[in-house]
Amino acid sequence: MSLWFTEKQTEYFGITGKVNKTLEHERTDFQQLDIIETQQFGRMLLLDGMVMTTEKDEFVYHEMITHVPLFTHPSPKKVLVVGGGDGGTVREILKHPIVEKVTQVEIDSKVVEYSKKHLSYISSGYGDPRTELIIGDGFEHIINSEDIYDVILVDSTEPVGPAAGLFTEGFYAGIAKALKTDGIFVAQTDNPWFKGDLIKKAMRDTKKVFPIAKLYTCNIPTYPSGMWTFTMGSKKYNPLEVNLNNIADIDGKYYTPEIHHASFVLPKFVQQLCEEK
Ligand code: SAM
Repeated sequence: MSLWFTEKQTEYFGITGKVNKTLEHERTDFQQLDIIETQQFGRMLLLDGMVMTTEKDEFVYHEMITHVPLFTHPSPKKVLVVGGGDGGTVREILKHPIVEKVTQVEIDSKVVEYSKKHLSYISSGYGDPRTELIIGDGFEHIINSEDIYDVILVDSTEPVGPAAGLFTEGFYAGIAKALKTDGIFVAQTDNPWFKGDLIKKAMRDTKKVFPIAKLYTCNIPTYPSGMWTFTMGSKKYNPLEVNLNNIADIDGKYYTPEIHHASFVLPKFVQQLCEEK
């Protein structure tokens, strides 16, 4: 008898994959946490039944949420990660020698604990001397921060449950306050096929607060629709004005200087989401 995991990405559509072993299955104080061993994508972290990260395709998301803003800002010394419990975003940030401190605010300590136990490469940045892990609500941390960070990355779950507050208009204003005068923020903003309204709202709210607001995309096969987006808000630096010759070679498998620019080229239906009032 074979076991299969299915994520219903909408009421009417989903993905399914063969499961070889269940490594963790626990209801934490915040969400249902599962770590499963799958035939196709290796070990997989699920929160409330949704794919968060997998051993096989995690590099796409973690390279793109970090290297695009960190090569856009000329001197990203202080970086904040909201969420990111699996550790992959912190791992990629640490590849930038110019970064002096990475502060991560993750609400659920169990995500960190089990990622360290079962996802060793993804969580390999934990414990680096430049990192500070705070177990707490990223929303509270942002509201209580002012003029501290060069870059803020919101690596949260979907805007339900503990992450609901991380997608509100007030949160973006709070991010702007927590950033320095030339700061940049990036938030993961789901997919344009099933969550167009979320992207429209994120872009609208970001434009209200930041002079430069842009969407960029990448391909993540285990995420809903496979097309994933990030919303960038920047107080000063334009990601498309980065001189590609100044982008150092990063040890990775997805991000390149050419992709830095190309990821901002959007299909027409996605561009239209960004332009809607
Ligand atoms: N890459 C994934 C995605 O795009 O859906 C996100 C990965 S990471 C596991 C998401 C993390 O956000 C989880 O560990 C979750 O506990 C955390 N999180 C959710 N709401 C939060 C909040 N209000 N403050 C801090 N962390 C939060």
